[in-house]
Amino acid sequence: MFKIAVIPGDGIGTEVTSQAVRILKKASRILKEQFDFTELKAGGIAIDTYGKPLPEETLKAALASDAVLLGAVGGPKWDSLSYELKPEQALLGLRKGLELYANIRPAIMFDSLIEASSLKPEIVMGIDIVVVRELTGGLYYGRPAGIFEEANTRRGVNTMTYTVPEIERIAHTAFKLAKTRRKKITSVDKANILHTSMLWREIVNGIHKRNYPDIEIDHMYVDNAAMQLIRNPKHFDVILTENMFGDILSDEASMLTGSIGMLPSASIGEKHALYEPVHGSAPDIAGKGLANPIASILSAAMLLEYSLKQKELARKIFRAVESVLREGHRTADISSGSTNILSTEQMGAEIEKKL
Ligand code: NAD
Repeated sequence: MFKIAVIPGDGIGTEVTSQAVRILKKASRILKEQFDFTELKAGGIAIDTYGKPLPEETLKAALASDAVLLGAVGGPKWDSLSYELKPEQALLGLRKGLELYANIRPAIMFDSLIEASSLKPEIVMGIDIVVVRELTGGLYYGRPAGIFEEANTRRGVNTMTYTVPEIERIAHTAFKLAKTRRKKITSVDKANILHTSMLWREIVNGIHKRNYPDIEIDHMYVDNAAMQLIRNPKHFDVILTENMFGDILSDEASMLTGSIGMLPSASIGEKHALYEPVHGSAPDIAGKGLANPIASILSAAMLLEYSLKQKELARKIFRAVESVLREGHRTADISSGSTNILSTEQMGAEIEKKL
């Protein structure tokens, strides 16, 4: 029995997650393996129910599961809460609690969606990029952090910090992944300015030389990488980068492929793994059946690949999505004027049928 903790969260999180669960149930029938789903609360809904974004029972059950499937958290209802109480704290708490240091975010161009990209077809055709983002270090976790009172003003402070072991383990993840692909890594940093980046570059270079000399590597400053992703995205295969740079670059990469509603992610640690779409809770479209469930469904495919080692079935889900899109089925975000627009649920049903 494979135990999956399901945390739908808020807004469209609940809508897209139910379609991903539908595909996982289908996968369980195909594999003739039983999946045990436990639904848990985190984010705004947990604040409303328990008064905190990440209740202990949610973290405990996530720790006891074989994999976690997350929707998204947050929304305007909880925006005015103090920092510690905000729904997004649930994400930070889960990442830290499950020790998920590697965030893997593929951005793949489906040929039939070329029209949905804001760039020219010849620039984006055939894009297949994976961003490997460090997830438990850098600015989002460094201390001191806060807004501090001073004599005549207030000062906002965040601290960017990385230790050698933190850089080493994420670099190994990226190099190992590159070995299974085009054997090419771009390490993104800001080593002309930031000390954390100088250390990052030194450690990444050392690991490359010692352990993975057959992998081609280039280093790029983050401002240049943001520009090159638009100018010539096909330059990239595996992008290795720290927490905040990865957060920003992976959203940028997502728009190359048409919609943030297409981008899945896996967050991996030594013992645990969590799978979630890259997008947030999209309060502007929540509850209307407009959300694209593909990012969440592809996150479920990553769960099957990474946690269950079912690479072939994961490929089948990917191909089911591909052929549903090729047949012209669209959710509103990728419609580009098409009139054949499906709801979240209808898109999930089409993909299941194809699978
Ligand atoms: P967002 O990703 O929720 O939405 C950005 C835009 O993309 C919106 O116009 C939205 O309608 C659209 N969009 C997103 N996902 C879509 C989908 N599946 N199908 C169709 N359209 C989609 O980002 P935001 O508006 O900056 O944030 C909204 C809330 O989500 C905030 O509270 C934020 O903190 C939270 N958030 C949560 C996560 C997470 O849970 N991992 C990630 C990002 C943002």
